[in-house]
Amino acid sequence: MTQFSSFRFVLLLLLALSSLQLTPLWAQQADKISVLLIDGQNNHNWKATTPLIYQVLEGCGRFDVDIATSPGPGESLDSFSPDFSKYDLVVSNYNGQLWSEPTQKAFEAFVAGGGGFVSVHAADNSFPQWDAYNRMIGLGGWGGRSEKDGPYVRWKEEHKRFTRDLSPGRGGTHGKRVPFLVIVRDSEHPVTAGLPSTFMQAADELYGKLRGPAENMHVLATGFSSPATGGTGEHEPLLITVQFGEGRVFHTTLGHDANAMKGMAFQITLQRGAEWAATGSVNQPAVNGTKLTSDVPAMRDPADVGPDEFATIPDVTSNGWITLFNGKDLSGWSQKNGTATYRIENGTIVGKTAQGSPNSFMCTTRDYENFELTFEVNDDAGLNSGVQIRSLSKADFNNGRVHGPQVEIESAPGESGYIYSEGTGRGWITKQQPVKDAYQNGKWNRFVVRANGDRIQTWVNGVAIADIVDAESSKKGFIGLQVHGIKRDTGPFEVRWRDIRVRELQ
Ligand code: ZN
Repeated sequence: MTQFSSFRFVLLLLLALSSLQLTPLWAQQADKISVLLIDGQNNHNWKATTPLIYQVLEGCGRFDVDIATSPGPGESLDSFSPDFSKYDLVVSNYNGQLWSEPTQKAFEAFVAGGGGFVSVHAADNSFPQWDAYNRMIGLGGWGGRSEKDGPYVRWKEEHKRFTRDLSPGRGGTHGKRVPFLVIVRDSEHPVTAGLPSTFMQAADELYGKLRGPAENMHVLATGFSSPATGGTGEHEPLLITVQFGEGRVFHTTLGHDANAMKGMAFQITLQRGAEWAATGSVNQPAVNGTKLTSDVPAMRDPADVGPDEFATIPDVTSNGWITLFNGKDLSGWSQKNGTATYRIENGTIVGKTAQGSPNSFMCTTRDYENFELTFEVNDDAGLNSGVQIRSLSKADFNNGRVHGPQVEIESAPGESGYIYSEGTGRGWITKQQPVKDAYQNGKWNRFVVRANGDRIQTWVNGVAIADIVDAESSKKGFIGLQVHGIKRDTGPFEVRWRDIRVRELQ
C-alpha cells in the first residue's frame, strides 16, 4: 500500500467509525471532565473540605480537578480571574467577598454559554447582591436574603407537589446537625435515575428557608427539616438543578463539614450531579439500596473513593471463563416450553421456529447467580430472540412458563441488549433505550452480560447498552436461549449461537 492510499484507508476507517456514532464505555470514560474547584473564602472550614471534594471527584475516575484559591477575606480580589473557559465544569466551595466585575462577567458568560456549575453547601450563601449568581443557584440563604429575593420552595406532602411561598421572612436556617433521609422527588432525572428512592445522609446541616429567583429550577430531592431538632417542619430542597442560558447547574445543599462529606449520599450525588452539569447525562453506574442505605447513613472516607469496579466491560479474552456449549451436543442443556427445534451445526446451536409454538427455551441444567456471560449470536431478520438469565420455570407459576430477565436479541434498529421481563407481565425493565443500532444484521454479534446483585449490565459489540438496578427479578436461575413464537404463515426463521461462556462472580 502506498503512503497515499494508507492515509486514505485510515481516513475512510475514521469516517466509518465516526458514522457509527456509538461510543463504547471505555472511550466515554477516557475523556475526563475538566473541573475548576474554587475556594479561598468561606465561613466553613474550606481548607479541610476542599481536599475532600477533590478526592470525591478525582477518585471516581471521571474528573480531572484543578483548584483556584482566591485571596483571603479583606484582600483585593482584583487579581482573582480564573480562566473558566478552559474547563467543562466549575465547582464552588466559596462563600465570601464579591468577585471583581470582570470575573463575574466571565463566570456568567461561561455558564450562560453552556459551562457546568456545581454549588456545594455554603456556596449558596455567597453573593446575595449578584443577580445572575442567584439565578444560577435558584435558591440561597443568609446574607440578608428575604422575600425581596424570591419565594421559599417546599415540597408539600399533603398536595404531593412543590409550592412557592412569598410570605415575608428571612432566607436561610438549619437545625441541629443530624443524619436525615434524602427523598428523591424525580426518579427519572439522570442524576437521580440510578439511585434508591430514599437514602440517609450522614449528620449534616439540613438547609431550610432558602429563597431566591427559583427560575428554570427543578428540585430532585428533599429532606424533612424536623422541628424536633430545631428545623422548619418543612420538606426542604436538598438537590436542585437550574438551567441558566445554555448552562446546567447542580446545587447541593449537603456537605457542611468533613463528617458530612464522608456520607456516601453527599459523595454519590455530587459525582452524579457534577457529571450531569458538565455533560447533560450520567454514565456513572446505578447505585442500589444495599450501598446507599435508608436505615443508617452509608459512610466512606473520601480518600477511599475509587473508580467503580464494574465500570468497564468484562474482558472475554481473560482467564476464568467456563464454556457452556461444547460445540458437539447439548449436554448441560435441556429444552423448556415450546416446540421450536435446536440442532448443532458447525459448532453452533441453531434454533428454528415452529409454526404454532409458544416461545421455546434451551436452558442450562444448572443455575447461575452472580456472573458474567458472553456469547455470539446471528439472528435471522424478522425473528425476535433473546437469552434468559437468572430465570425460573415452576409448576406452580403458569404451568412452568419460563420467566425472568431476558437480554433481547433482534435485528437493528431494535432493542438488542435491553432487558425484558419474560413471562411476568412487567414488560421492559430497561425503560430508557437510547441505542438501537449496536447489533449488526446478518453477522455474528458479541454480547456480554454482567449480573451482580441487583445490577445487570449488557454490551453489544462493545457498546454499553443497559446498566440497571433491578431488585424485583429473581437473583438466581438458569440461562436460556429463546426462539420466539411466530405469527401464522411466517417463517421458518433461525437463530444461531456460539462461544457461550460464563464466569461466576464471588
Ligand atoms: Zn454549614
